[in-house]
Amino acid sequence: MRLVLLGPPGSGKGTQAARLKEYLQVPHISTGDLLRAEVAAGSPLGMQAKEVMARGDLVSDEILLGMLESRFSRADTANGFILDGYPRNQAQADALGVLLQKMGKPMDYAVQLEVPTELLVERIAGRAAAEGRADDTPESVRTRLKVYDSQTAPVIDYYRQHGQLTVVNGVGSLDEVFSRLVEALSPAKEVG
Ligand code: ADP
Repeated sequence: MRLVLLGPPGSGKGTQAARLKEYLQVPHISTGDLLRAEVAAGSPLGMQAKEVMARGDLVSDEILLGMLESRFSRADTANGFILDGYPRNQAQADALGVLLQKMGKPMDYAVQLEVPTELLVERIAGRAAAEGRADDTPESVRTRLKVYDSQTAPVIDYYRQHGQLTVVNGVGSLDEVFSRLVEALSPAKEVG
């Protein structure tokens, strides 16, 4: 199954994707994780991305598309994937559509995890204390939420217009949200 998870920072995409990966037996592709790995490795790409990420802005579409293309070319994506953190703007949504069409592998599902903003801020503050991510400073969080509203939220309409959108309530315990996701995806899971 090819699935894209949509939702603001702090909506739980990463956590739920890690669980869904076991359930669906397909890899979890997080563009944030891919970028953080580049930063940690000190690669030229990572060095370019580091400051942009710390600010909470978007890394260039070109870098992201190259990274994604190379990730999709790996054999473990043959039976599908869970995409988390991409697309983050309309240009990326278009690029993804073209890329998947070229591979003859259209997206099956776009799932939006819906969480109210007050709760997002609270969750990210909790994560900042626990994990110390470089971009979980209050200023960066504000920027990421702003970027989400202006650039990423419109992508949700794009998938809705294509009849691919499923909305899942992201408020509740990890288990509750996971059960809702499984339920939302169950018809596809049965089909395989
Ligand atoms: P979160 O959703 O919690 O903000 P992510 O781990 O998905 O965190 O992304 C962290 C940062 O990595 C983003 O703020 C951005 O700078 C960069 N990034 C991740 N995915 C993309 C993308 N598709 N396009 C541009 N930048 C991205």
